[in-house]
Amino acid sequence: MNNSIESIQNFKGKYPKQLWYLFFSEMWERFSFYGMRGMLVFFMVDQLKLNDVVANLQYGATQAFVYAFTFIGGLFADKILGYRRSLFWGGLLMIVGSIVLAIDPKEFFFLGIGFNIIGTGFFKPNISTIVGSLYKEGDPRQDAGFSLFYAGVNLGALLGGYLCIAIGKRQLFENLIPAHMAWHVAFGLAAVVMVVSLLTFTNTQRSLGSIGISPLLHLTPKRKRTYEYLTYVGSLAVIPVIMIMVSKTEYTDIFMYIIGPASLVYLFYEMRFFSIAENKKLIAAVVFMLFSIFFWAFFEQSGGSLSIFAANNLSGTALGIPLDPNGVNNSANSLFVIIFAPLIGLVWIWMNKRKLEPNTIVKFGLGFLFLAAGFYVFYYTRFFTNNNGVTSLDLFSMGWLIITFGELCLSPIGMSVMTKLSPQKLQAVIMGMWFLASAYGQYFAGLLGANIAEASKNSTNIEKLLIYTDGYKQLGLYSLIGGIMVIALSPFIKRLMGGVK
Ligand code: GLN
Repeated sequence: MNNSIESIQNFKGKYPKQLWYLFFSEMWERFSFYGMRGMLVFFMVDQLKLNDVVANLQYGATQAFVYAFTFIGGLFADKILGYRRSLFWGGLLMIVGSIVLAIDPKEFFFLGIGFNIIGTGFFKPNISTIVGSLYKEGDPRQDAGFSLFYAGVNLGALLGGYLCIAIGKRQLFENLIPAHMAWHVAFGLAAVVMVVSLLTFTNTQRSLGSIGISPLLHLTPKRKRTYEYLTYVGSLAVIPVIMIMVSKTEYTDIFMYIIGPASLVYLFYEMRFFSIAENKKLIAAVVFMLFSIFFWAFFEQSGGSLSIFAANNLSGTALGIPLDPNGVNNSANSLFVIIFAPLIGLVWIWMNKRKLEPNTIVKFGLGFLFLAAGFYVFYYTRFFTNNNGVTSLDLFSMGWLIITFGELCLSPIGMSVMTKLSPQKLQAVIMGMWFLASAYGQYFAGLLGANIAEASKNSTNIEKLLIYTDGYKQLGLYSLIGGIMVIALSPFIKRLMGGVK
């Protein structure tokens, strides 16, 4: 079998076969990640007895760190481990983290989360970069490839997001799992699927040929190994530090003040080695990253404030079917991505043929406009409440449907454009920075959510409904302003991007 990069990139048909392997590996990883994530806030409030405000802040901190470490994971992959070894190491850490949580989620909560944070940092950006490497520069099939990959992300998120919390809350398999074991099993499930993810990868990675192998092959094996071991040991040593930083969110603040500017300084330093045209593209990439921060700050209310809103204020039936509102909040978006990602892909192709396809930056702007409309729908749920402040899960799901269109205009396209705007040597760092922007999004999401939770302390359920939906109306307005700004700036950013669409 010929596995040279050329033969991989010259694949026939719509998708390279390797994409399917990565699809499944990422699907199981996201099952584990979103399964766990969907339990965090609820578990912190219900089991660890933290108050809503602290839970929101700590949740925001964990998510901020997850995505901040994707920058570091990307950096170490580019410089030391290579994408593949990074991914393997990350997967291993995620497995250990979820096993630790399965053993005693209350006692080892922050330890398990610490492992998962570092593990995701090594796994997530690098699998995305490998997807980009399957395509030759300028291959028009690349966006479709990322869309398919994104469907895999969301298939995992859907299954994990619904199943884990439903098991933990004893809405599912309550006859099979004894009450005191429910959370152990829920976290254990995340561990099992992560093993499946890693096995999928190890059993198929041969097909990647030389994609993602070590960047240090020019060194002696001994030197190379020393660097690798130092990376492993270093990443383990960071775990206790993360545990402290997540449990005391003031430290997260300091970390967030430093990591973003530091990554930019690093990028500027690297820019000395590239041409003006390449540097303009890198600046365009940074502009995309900056806008994405706002998008995710609002979107990521999903795991934080919306999860509390779902628990307090949403009914337990959608389309007449009894469903857990937290499970729906965790997974409706993913279901819609799976259904509509292929459709949106077709719409872009249709528009392209008629020379109507908006460029990436206008798509970003549309992303914000959909986001705004979705948050206005969340606001609107207040007009459908009963006397106890419980309102329509159907309408709420409709809000997610609209926001999903926004996500599809921004997220898979964002990943794809990162690989197009970045020179070969900086691929993983740039992908890491793209996710680092999500870290800021998550971080601000936690702050926004905590503000809403703070305002609703000691309120009745109906007052909570009003306070939360007021918050969502504000977010709707800001998204609207964001969308208009992005579209207004589009000609300028287009110029920076050179020929990249
Ligand atoms: N939902 C997507 C994923 O998990 C995007 C995450 C992000 O960029 N914030 O891959």
